[in-house]
Amino acid sequence: MARSNRTERGIQRVDLAYAQLASSEIARDINCDLVLELIRARQPISRSDLARLSGLQRSTVSLIIEDLLEEGWIREGAVVRRPRGRRPTLLNLNDDLAMIVCDLRPAQAVVAVVDLNGRFLSRESLHVLSDPAKAVAQIVERMKRLQQKHVLKTFEGIGVSLPGRVDPDTHALIFAPNLKWTRFEIKKAIERGMGLKVEVDNAANACLLSELWFGHMDGVRNAVLVTVSEGIGAGVLANGQLVSGTSGMAGEFGHIPLDPAGPKCACGATGCWETFASSSAALRYYAELGHAGHRLTIHDLIKLAEEGDVHAGEAIEKQAHMIGRGMRAILAAVSPEVILVAGDITSAWSRVVPIIMEELASLVLAGPVPTLRPVEESEVARLRGAAALVLQRHTGRQHLKKAKPRG
Ligand SMILES: [Zn+2]
Repeated sequence: MARSNRTERGIQRVDLAYAQLASSEIARDINCDLVLELIRARQPISRSDLARLSGLQRSTVSLIIEDLLEEGWIREGAVVRRPRGRRPTLLNLNDDLAMIVCDLRPAQAVVAVVDLNGRFLSRESLHVLSDPAKAVAQIVERMKRLQQKHVLKTFEGIGVSLPGRVDPDTHALIFAPNLKWTRFEIKKAIERGMGLKVEVDNAANACLLSELWFGHMDGVRNAVLVTVSEGIGAGVLANGQLVSGTSGMAGEFGHIPLDPAGPKCACGATGCWETFASSSAALRYYAELGHAGHRLTIHDLIKLAEEGDVHAGEAIEKQAHMIGRGMRAILAAVSPEVILVAGDITSAWSRVVPIIMEELASLVLAGPVPTLRPVEESEVARLRGAAALVLQRHTGRQHLKKAKPRG
C-alpha cells in the first residue's frame, strides 16, 4: 500500500456553515470525507450507491474512490453478481489500517489496538505510576508490545484520552487535577518512544468525537458529553463545532462551585460540582452513612446497591441528584439538545436516570428538556474516543487554519 502517499484524513462530519466558507480545494476534501463516511456507515457499498447517497456526480465519486484506494483508506471487495449488465465491485474500509489507543486514568491505563472499523484487536491494562515520565515510559513499552503482536497491520497513529486538558497549540498536558500530574509533554514523549504521530485530548472531548464518528448523532448540533468517574469532565458541541476554548480549557463544568462551603477539590478550590457528583463523592456519601471502614470501588458500591443495600442505593441516588443539579450550568451555557453521559455512573443508569431527568426538568429556563442518554458501550468509550482523535486529524477547523493542496 502507498502509505507515504496517503493523506491523513478523518472520517468527518460536514458542517454546513463551514462548507459555505470552503474553497474548492477544501470542498474536494469535504466530498472525500463525506464519501469515506458513507463507506464506513454502509459498507460494502458500490460506487453508484455512493453517488446516489452522497448526491455527488458519478464521475466525482469515481475520482474520489481512486484517491482513497491509492491512499489505502479503502479497498475493493466482492463483485455483485447480476444476471446482466454491470457487475459493480463493492468497497470497504481497509481494516489493515490500525491505531494504537490509550485510555489513561488516575490508577490504571488501558492500551489497545483498534482497526479503522472501530474493532478492538488487542487490549491490555496496566497500573499507572505517579511520576509522569516513568508512567509514560511503561505505557510506551506496552504499546510496542501490542504493535509487535500485529505486524501485518499498518499503524496510522496513536490516540490518547485522559482526564485533563491539553493545550491545542503546545500539546502539553496543562491541567490534570485527578491524575495529579503537573505540566507534562505527553505527546512528545510518546512520539519519541513510538515513532508514530500522537493525538492527545481530554476524555470527554474524545468520547464526544467518538459519538460523532461511530455513534448516532445525525443532525445534532448542540450537545454536551459529561464523563462521571473519578472526576467530572465535559466536552461541548455548539452550533455543530467542538469547542476547545483558550488553551483547550473549555468545558470544565466539573470545577464550577455548587457550594463554596463544600469539600476540598483536587483543583484547589472547594465545593466544585465534581466534589458532589463524581464516583468519589458517591463513595464518600456511603462512608458518611456509617460505612467509613469499607474500602470500596464505585463498581462495588453499584453492585451493593443492586443487591439491595439500602445505604449504597441512597449514596448513588444522592450522587444522581447532584449530577442533575450541576447540569444547570450546562443548560445555561450551551442549551444542548442532547446531554450524553459516559463513565462509571452509566453502570447504574436505570437507577439514576429518573433522578437526573427530574432535576433537569426543574432547571430548564425555557424550551424543551434536553434528551439524556448514556454513551454506547461506556466501558470502551474512551478507547473509541482515542481512535476518533486519530481519525479527526483533518477536521474542518484544521482545514481552515492550514489548508494545503493534497498531493
Ligand atoms: Zn475543582
